[in-house]
Parts: sequence; C-alpha cells; structure tokens
Amino acid sequence: MATTSRKRLFGTSGIRGIPGQDITLNFVTEMAQAVGTFFEKGPILVGHDTRHSGPTLAKAVAAGLMSVGLDVGEAGLLPTPALQYCVRNMEYNGGIMITASHNPSQYNGMKVSGSDGIDTTRDEEQIIENIYYDKKFRLADWKTVGNSFQDTKTIRTYSEAILSQVNVDEIRKRNFRVVVDLGNGAQCVAAPYILEHLNCKPISLNAQPDGDFPGRGAEPTPDVLKGLSEAVKTYGADIGVAYDGDGDRSLFCDEKGVIHYGDRSAALLTDYILTQNPGALIVTTVSASQAIDDIVEARGGEIFKTKVGSVDVSNAMVERKALFGLEENGGCFYAPHIPVRDGAMTSALILEAMAKSSKPFSEMLNSLPNYQQRKAKFECTSEKVPRVMERIAAYAKGKIETIDGLKIWPDDKTWILLRPSGTEPVLRVFAESDRKDKLDAMINEYSEVVKDTLKRTSS
Ligand code: MG
Repeated sequence: MATTSRKRLFGTSGIRGIPGQDITLNFVTEMAQAVGTFFEKGPILVGHDTRHSGPTLAKAVAAGLMSVGLDVGEAGLLPTPALQYCVRNMEYNGGIMITASHNPSQYNGMKVSGSDGIDTTRDEEQIIENIYYDKKFRLADWKTVGNSFQDTKTIRTYSEAILSQVNVDEIRKRNFRVVVDLGNGAQCVAAPYILEHLNCKPISLNAQPDGDFPGRGAEPTPDVLKGLSEAVKTYGADIGVAYDGDGDRSLFCDEKGVIHYGDRSAALLTDYILTQNPGALIVTTVSASQAIDDIVEARGGEIFKTKVGSVDVSNAMVERKALFGLEENGGCFYAPHIPVRDGAMTSALILEAMAKSSKPFSEMLNSLPNYQQRKAKFECTSEKVPRVMERIAAYAKGKIETIDGLKIWPDDKTWILLRPSGTEPVLRVFAESDRKDKLDAMINEYSEVVKDTLKRTSS
C-alpha cells in the first residue's frame, strides 16, 4: 500500500474510535503488535478507564504485546496519569492506556507512552503506523512469547507520588471540605483517597465507575456541573472539583458554587508556582489567555508557547526543562511529578495554594488578571482549509503569529486564533480582548471573511 493512501490512525491524543466498528479486537491486537515491535523490549504496562469495552480491549492489547515477545503488567482500571507515572517510575519500558478521555461513552481508544511516561512523539506514531500497515511484526515463537502479571501497586504508587509533591501537613491543618465529582470515570479509584489523606473530608458525586457515564457525561464543562455547584453550596464546601473520563483534566468550583473555566484555575497555579519558584519556565499553547503572559511577566518568569495539543506541551516541557505547563481546557502539567496532564496532581496543588492563602478560592481567582473570551467553530473540510487560511492571511490586519494556524493581533490586547481542528472537519476560532466591544466586532469581522470564503469555495 502506498504511504499516501494510508489513513492516519493517531489523532491529537492517541487512536480513537467505536469498539466493534473501527476499533475491533483484531485491530487493537495488531496495533499492539506494532507498538510492541516498536518498543522492542518490555515489560509494558496496560490499563483502562471505566468504559465498558476497557477490559476486553486491554486483554487484546496484552495478547498482541505478548505475541511479539514482550511481558505485560496488567493494571486494570486506573487514571491515565497514574499509568503514565508508573511507566516512568517503575520497571516498565512503555505503556498503553485504553481510553477515549472525555469522548461520549460509545468511544474508546489507545494512548501510547514511552519509558518516560510521556505520549509517543508524532514521528514515533508514524513509525508505529508504518509497522502496522506493513504488518512487519516481530512475532515471537513458542518459547519467546511474553508473559503477563497483575500489577496491583499502581494506584498506591501514584497516590503516594502526588502526596510527596505537596505540603501535606499544611493542607491537613486547614480541614478543607471538598466536593469531588468523579463523573463515573477513572479518578474514582484514586482522587477521593488522595483527598482523604489531605484531611479534606471529600464528599463524592458520581463515584461509581460506570462506562455509561450516567452522572454528567465524561466531559466536565460548566453547563453539566450544576450538581457539583449545588453540592458545594449545600455542604458549605471550600471548593469543588470535577474530572474527565480518564482523570487527566480537572475543573474547579468556588465556595459560592461558581464553576470556573480550566484556564482560570491554571492561571492561579501559574501564579502560585511562580511565587514559589521565581524565574521558572512555563509552557502553554497559542490558545492560552493573555492572563498567563501578564502573570508570568509580573512574577518574573519565562513563557514558551506551542501548538495546541498536550503532546506538544509535554515534549516542549522536557526539551526546555520547564517547571509547569498548562492548556486553556484546564490541563495542568507539573514537571517535578511528571510532565503530563494530571487532574489529581492539579487538585493537590490548588489545595496547597489555598492552604498558603488566607483568601477563599473565589477571591484568589478574582485577584488574577481577566480577559473577555469567545470561541466559535465553522464546518470546514480539509480540502477547503488551505483556501480559507490563505484568504484570512491576506485579509489580516496587525501582527500575525503562525505557531499553529493564524493568530492575529489587531491591537496589543486583542487577538483571534483561527486553526483547523486535528480531530474534526472544523475550523476553530478562539478570541480574546480586554474589551467586549472590540472582541465582538473582531469575531463578527473574521466570521464574515470565513463564511464568504467557504461560500465561494463550494460554488
Ligand atoms: Mg482526558
């Protein structure tokens, strides 16, 4: 098969699809054989989130890895960052997590991590895909076939690692009351126990692992977290936290019941971490708020911006020895623990920041710089993308950045980012300004350009 006709299998964050349709047992077994052939040696840690197909797919992946001669540690149900932490710090040479993160319940997928626990790079994904398509599996014979064992230490190892990164005594002294919305996802098995150890008397919502995600779905957004908001008010809690399906992202609720977007809590942590570590390097993506730039400047830190995508943030953090990373969706990466997104690590750091402050959580957030933001998206097939981007570039007025898509600055407090999505046939628009009137005018102006170009390209 010619390379050009090969469909890309890895998306922005691993392989995703619907089990039984595009993610068949045969497909995952062969993908695991490709991954195992790429890794060359084991053992490889395999785990899954709470999706119904998790145990079956994990067995098929384990079989694929053993068939190419690698030993497999079976971790069962655990959060993605727990698997990644254990791969990095235990005797593993790689890991495969069966997860579709925050996607609806019918989806599942595979996320591959190298021996450092970090997602494989884009180049490595390409090598694995080529092995898969060429079927160049290094199959073992009857005596070199791999073995499998249950690894029962992963959750404890992960939880202890998080606790070792924060000042447990100081947090414990404050007797914080925390409501935790586990969303029936993978943090069910770790986060409540970490909070318990921090003396937070956690009140848990949607705490039973369930692949239907019956509570509020696998994706925590402000509109689906009314239950968390109500519970925080009812129980007089100091803070509320919600995780996504595989537990690598967290969203927070203040003591008044207000749910905050992930970039607000990430901004708070940026401020806290720079106060504790003056001059540190922070990595974020081009879609992050100017609030982050303002905080980094005020605290004398440094900032580096990548393309949108957690793999890009992780890899830039490693390359540049950054201390902290963040995404506008609330993903936070703390390098002393592991430079990947981790919802429970983020929660522990937020509690430490609260323990060191005399203010309630809402006031801590309100004291940070804030901007007006808007997001939009347009249906746009990949064939139309080049024409649309070309037209926007020709039209743009002001400074232009091209790290990912086009980021246009009409003035030094106002920007609009237009970029084709890596996972769907849409053009994503992020915009921010210090003033709502400027923001609205700019969104309207560029929306017209996009709509007009789309109309002309289809005719
Ligand atoms: Mg996730």
